[in-house]
Amino acid sequence: MTTIRTTCNRCGDVELTTADIGLELSSETSNGTYRFSCPFCGITQRRPANHRVVSILLATGVEYDIIATTGPITEQEIDGFVTSLDSDDWFSELATS
Ligand SMILES: [Zn+2]
Repeated sequence: MTTIRTTCNRCGDVELTTADIGLELSSETSNGTYRFSCPFCGITQRRPANHRVVSILLATGVEYDIIATTGPITEQEIDGFVTSLDSDDWFSELATS
């Protein structure tokens, strides 16, 4: 069985099995978060997982969930809004509508 070494806030270095770990993956990026319950103190902890950590955890067979991170406003929508503010005719558009 694969053991995964991580650090507990209380206990320091701990060794976990794949069954102790759950991975939360973002639908937007290749990064994610993993959570584990410390085998010594039992506290559930969450850590950011970069692309490399995500790859390792997936390769060892850790179970994962896809978390939708789409917010109410996307960056693209903000950009579009800023662009429309910059254009000179927004006021006339507003005035004529
Ligand atoms: Zn612990």
